[in-house]
Amino acid sequence: MQTQVALVTGAADGIGWAMARRFAAAGCCVALADLDHDRTAARAAELGDRHLAVRADVADEASAIAMVEETVARLGRLDILVNNAGIGDSHKPTLEQDLATFDRILRVHLDGTFVASREAARAMAGQGGAILNVSSIAGLTGLPRRNAYGAAKAGIVAMTKSMACEWAGAGIRVNAIAPGYVGTALVAKLFEAGRIDRGRLERRIPLGRLADPAEIAEAAWFLCSPSASYVTGAVLSVDGGWSAY
Ligand code: NAD
Repeated sequence: MQTQVALVTGAADGIGWAMARRFAAAGCCVALADLDHDRTAARAAELGDRHLAVRADVADEASAIAMVEETVARLGRLDILVNNAGIGDSHKPTLEQDLATFDRILRVHLDGTFVASREAARAMAGQGGAILNVSSIAGLTGLPRRNAYGAAKAGIVAMTKSMACEWAGAGIRVNAIAPGYVGTALVAKLFEAGRIDRGRLERRIPLGRLADPAEIAEAAWFLCSPSASYVTGAVLSVDGGWSAY
């Protein structure tokens, strides 16, 4: 079988970096895309010279288009796209939130997922592929003060289902994962700012702990791999039981 090419956005750190490692371990050539280019280049070098670092801002249409073009030009094709790049929100009460921050959160998550998916589907035309979007428990359940982030992540669920139906005939599967709280910089910032109490949070999670990024990457690889050949339009909760509680 031809070597699969996977493009992972937000791959310089956290869940995206864990995914890049997992996809490389499965034999994929991985394009790691991120705003933070120095870090991405170091990560790609750590994986080996078959892998590629791409400078990209997924919230910028021209940059997201160039990201897919560069991946195809340098790695020869595109089989898998993971729309993982994301930012947290201020966690402020809604009455203290401003529209510019709200818009920025929607832009990174929704515009980024839309444009990158559209470009990937063009690149996958005639061959098929898999797209995985990263939602969150915030897109499935109500988390106080997280209305912008929740709206973005719920929008990603709707986009996943819409694109899955539209592109099934082209052999492109589109799925989402909805992680709970994961031990990354995004969550560390919330603990440091005193916005969330870690002990209280862990008591709320049925499995009693945060996820390791590698556990999210494992679910991501399953959905993008041939093992999930009959799965499309699905949203897989990887949340230690949070959304079942
Ligand atoms: P992180 O902050 O550790 O890493 C995110 C990466 O995305 C960073 O390397 C950052 O530079 C990059 N990035 C941010 N904006 C970008 C942009 N516009 N273009 C390109 N790259 C950009 O975050 P994480 O915790 O690994 O989160 C990854 C994804 O998982 C996000 O979509 C996040 O919303 C989602 N998620 C995280 C958690 C969690 O608990 N950490 C839970 C549910 C969902």
